[in-house]
Amino acid sequence: MRAFLGEFGARVGAAGRRVVDIALPPACMACARPVAVTGALCPGCWSGLRLIEQPFCRRLAIPFSYDIGPEALSAEAIADPPPFERLRAVAVYDAVSGRIVQALKYHDHTELARSIGAMMARAAGELAPETDLVVPVPLHRGRLWQRRFNQSAMIAAEIARRIGQPHVPDLVERIKATRRQVGLRATARLANVQGAFRVSAEARLKVAGRRVLLVDDVYTTGATVKAVTRALLRGGASGVDVVVFARVVEGLG
Ligand SMILES: [Zn+2]
Repeated sequence: MRAFLGEFGARVGAAGRRVVDIALPPACMACARPVAVTGALCPGCWSGLRLIEQPFCRRLAIPFSYDIGPEALSAEAIADPPPFERLRAVAVYDAVSGRIVQALKYHDHTELARSIGAMMARAAGELAPETDLVVPVPLHRGRLWQRRFNQSAMIAAEIARRIGQPHVPDLVERIKATRRQVGLRATARLANVQGAFRVSAEARLKVAGRRVLLVDDVYTTGATVKAVTRALLRGGASGVDVVVFARVVEGLG
């Protein structure tokens, strides 16, 4: 599956780029203003991102308005600790980061996946030395065909390359075709992904005793990454950290 997806993605990516280069002048992936190269964002869109920088909750990457020390936890992390150890996010989820995620999700934008992967590798910087495997949140097979590629796998491949650890896109299987989480309330999101993921018997050999960096595009309630984390821990992973591009922050967005 890994080799197949890699080849497939590269082929579609290269062909897609060639066609686009000939047919249209390059446009910003988020706002369609002209840019120098296909698959890029304009300076306005990059600078419009609200980056999540210190100080933030070391567990859930919720920004703090003032610095209360590097070990500080948010009330949410204390009240409802996630099964993963640490979340890192590049930016607050808002109109700008949302457009970037949409652009990546619904078109073939290999270049954009590279830029996003680079930013996420930076955001995950302090987790990198402890990471053994980089794993994307899997799509169900049906949806994979529909969208032609798994955007999380494209980003995860870039992160893995940058931090120098192996990318294992087929480690976790999605065994239940779930509804899209968008528009579902927190409890419905939880029910939607319950029992949706599994580490196969064969994959258990790869994950046993290893620390995983799990990759997804957006963190909303965390229902999906928590379900995948539980599957990884059941499969024998020694620990799981998560990196996303955008994180929903209450009151910001
Ligand atoms: Zn733009």
